[in-house]
Amino acid sequence: MDNLKNDIIFNTINNGILILDEDLKIRAWNRWLEIHTCMNLEAVQDKNLCELFPSIDEKKLKRKIKSVLVTNNSSFYSVDPHRYLIKIRLSNITNAIYEYMQQDVTIAPYKKEERLVAVYIYDKTSLCETNAQLEVLNGELKELSYRDPMTHAYNRRYFYEEATRLLSLANREEKSCCIVIMDIDKFKDINDTYGHSIGDEVIIALAKNLETHTRKSDVIARFGGEEFVILLYNSDIKNAKLVAEKIREDIQDIAISTSEGAIHFTASFGVSRFDKTFDENDIEHTISRADKCLYVAKTHGRNKVITEEYLGASKYDKLFNTYSMDDQTLHII
Ligand code: GH3
Ligand code: MG
Ligand code: MG
Repeated sequence: MDNLKNDIIFNTINNGILILDEDLKIRAWNRWLEIHTCMNLEAVQDKNLCELFPSIDEKKLKRKIKSVLVTNNSSFYSVDPHRYLIKIRLSNITNAIYEYMQQDVTIAPYKKEERLVAVYIYDKTSLCETNAQLEVLNGELKELSYRDPMTHAYNRRYFYEEATRLLSLANREEKSCCIVIMDIDKFKDINDTYGHSIGDEVIIALAKNLETHTRKSDVIARFGGEEFVILLYNSDIKNAKLVAEKIREDIQDIAISTSEGAIHFTASFGVSRFDKTFDENDIEHTISRADKCLYVAKTHGRNKVITEEYLGASKYDKLFNTYSMDDQTLHII
């Protein structure tokens, strides 16, 4: 291969090019490969490529070379699972993501009568890095689009997307899901008396507190103003009521400092259970029932948890006609 050894294009091109025979013996090795592998032509000449680079799948490469020689067409060579053919370690100063050069490889017929092929190696590390960074940025952007900037709680959009996923999972796993909706009591008074920024602090403190009462599988979202909705996965109405009661009790202890001393606040709650048939698989119906329960809590003194008890579809019509009261909890019956 003396003709290639001194060929300017072969030795100045910014890709690796090697000529192989069908037994994988190296017949030519360009300057790019010498530089990147730190092996000059003399060191690799007539050696078996797989002996020099044991990570190469010898059978697979031989099969590919055979097919290139039969079809007389160049062909892309998949370098999975390593994502390289020739193992070239990258400097870890310039490359934070990949340890080895990421490569694209094409094999083309070179001299058919001598059963030789040319193997072209392209460095695609920076492209892979850009793609990896883009993926991370896309993930961050998506996360931002799902969050309320003030409390960092999820927003409605995320809630509905996640609720759809969770409800179909709940269907498959035959799990029950509940909705807790809550709204701070007399919040306008807090804003009017202490100012909007104290109002903001109250909302932020509530959002933080909600996280301590829920599991990873639950979804908490700020639906607007000082109103939050929680989807409790794998929870019956009894458990949902307990969760809501615990939140109601705990938030009374949150102290927000103002120039006039610490202030406290309360919230009212509505609780309903998702019923696949009755709700026609639409969580909006469940939320709407919880919202009605919240309304009852607001109109019956606030700082209360109102639960809907599932007694059959027809009973929903009577939902707000009869209820019984024990302490702070009102039961629709
Ligand atoms: P109720 O007990 O009936 O809920 O009385 P309320 O005064 O809390 O009434 P409502 O829930 O309608 O009050 C919502 C108020 O919340 C109105 C709005 O000015 C205020 N608000 C909405 N978003 C924000 C916010 O991000 N920060 C602050 N500080 N106030 C907000
Ligand atoms: Mg309110
Ligand atoms: Mg409100």
